[in-house]
Amino acid sequence: MKNEPGQKPGDAGSSDAGNDKLSVVMGELCPVCSQKSLALTEREQEVPYFGKVLLFSMSCSNCKFHKADIECAEEHEPASYSIEVSGADDMSIRVVKSSQATVKVPYVADIEPGEASNGYVTNIEGILQRIKHQIEVIRDTEEDDAAVKKAKNLLKKINRAVSGEEKLKIILEDPTGNSAIISDKAIVQKMAGKIKDKKILS
Ligand SMILES: [Zn+2]
Repeated sequence: MKNEPGQKPGDAGSSDAGNDKLSVVMGELCPVCSQKSLALTEREQEVPYFGKVLLFSMSCSNCKFHKADIECAEEHEPASYSIEVSGADDMSIRVVKSSQATVKVPYVADIEPGEASNGYVTNIEGILQRIKHQIEVIRDTEEDDAAVKKAKNLLKKINRAVSGEEKLKIILEDPTGNSAIISDKAIVQKMAGKIKDKKILS
């Protein structure tokens, strides 16, 4: 797979936004604070070796409510992806993750699907940054010494994986088929599907 040096950790952002179709609607009613301060965006992005992905987001400038999700333009089989990552070369591997996907890093932490979950196009580094952030919150808020110590050890483990000193397995499961790890290294298995969820903005 081709590396994309311009692509920063994380999300398909401004760097390639120039090629994408973007539509923005401002001043919609926020479902949380009921002010007309919600911005809706819809963007189309071509993900190499995967296809066209639609990215939706809702952001409220008043109460800071934010929700994002993705949907594939073409239907994909519900699938489970697993990959062993070890170092810098793997950090730029593209990941498409919908709000219905579960990301598991065994013996470290999971990103759970559901209402509070967002969908995004990112890369392995972006996934690890999110996992790190979850663990940092535990480290900074947990009062139990053992839990804080465990969190610190997990952060070290992730940092070692990022620098190639340790291998880390990442599993991505999505019964809607809207997610993928885009690499020859990823092992793909079909999984039982469910009715495709409608997009979050209607
Ligand atoms: Zn609001």
